[in-house]
Amino acid sequence: MVTHLANVRYLSGFSGTAGVVIVAASESIFFTDGRYRQQAREEVRGARIRIRPGKSALAAAAEWLGKRSYQAVGIEAAHLTVAERSLLGAALGRGRKLVAAPPILDELRMVKDSGEIPLIRSSCRLGDELFRRLLQVLRPKVRESEVAGEIEFAARKAGADQMAFPTIIAGGARSALPHGRASLASIPGKGFVVSDFGVILAGYCSDMTRTVHVGRPPVAARDLYEAVREAQQAALEAVRPGKSVGEVDQAARNLLQRRSLAKFFTHSTGHGLGLEIHESPRVAAGQKEQLVPGMVITVEPGVYMPGRCGVRIEDTVLVTNSGCEILTASPKELIAL
Ligand code: ZN
Ligand code: ZN
Repeated sequence: MVTHLANVRYLSGFSGTAGVVIVAASESIFFTDGRYRQQAREEVRGARIRIRPGKSALAAAAEWLGKRSYQAVGIEAAHLTVAERSLLGAALGRGRKLVAAPPILDELRMVKDSGEIPLIRSSCRLGDELFRRLLQVLRPKVRESEVAGEIEFAARKAGADQMAFPTIIAGGARSALPHGRASLASIPGKGFVVSDFGVILAGYCSDMTRTVHVGRPPVAARDLYEAVREAQQAALEAVRPGKSVGEVDQAARNLLQRRSLAKFFTHSTGHGLGLEIHESPRVAAGQKEQLVPGMVITVEPGVYMPGRCGVRIEDTVLVTNSGCEILTASPKELIAL
């Protein structure tokens, strides 16, 4: 029984906000509520549609299960509330079990198919367009929120469903915050600005970060930027089939270690993305997952000096037969505005 909406969409094509899929031995059924009757008819493929008047998708699914004799139902443990679980339990009655299903869908979704890759490619191309827009509007004294607003407006005008996550625009000392959401602070007259943004276009995410410098960068700033750029390059070169995601993380960390900067790299190197902005695999220290052609991951090392400044560079990349293809093509030389 699939209740996580991204998984529901992956299986059935349904893009609304209320849906449950049951994959049984002999059939698949898609449940939704009355609001989505027409949309379900247009979008759902490979499953029979069932709507019960006045019932939620989950209640309809519970009712359906209650009338069948399955001894056990696999649930997505991370995507079912306590209340939903007890509703299901009551419908099934005694002697029949709800069990946590293995992450089959996470594993399937990790390797993108030939229908998904072009969509992610388009999403990344729009990301590159937004970066060009960002360079036009990013100026000292402009608020971070205004810069974010400009690129978000451009994204919607270009057809994006929405942003993939709250846009990060972090100037000056705020660039040291790995997740510095665009605030009311103004872009300072000098220093780094970290911009991390992505769109959802036709359901699929992009994710990229570029760090630019306002004013002429002093030597120390240039060195810091180059260290992160080389770390990112080293990690990109480690992306190829057969390597583990842990080795990609290690490649970035080793390079920063040589410059005594590893302790300022406080997050993992990347993550899978697709229908969701964060998917398997986690590109992090010690992770054993092997890279396979068709996986799409981010590579995003960063260095953060608390109270002073930060630099991060992030690309979305596709694992190919021989290495990787960078889908976010914006320049990575240090840009001074
Ligand atoms: Zn990002
Ligand atoms: Zn990311």
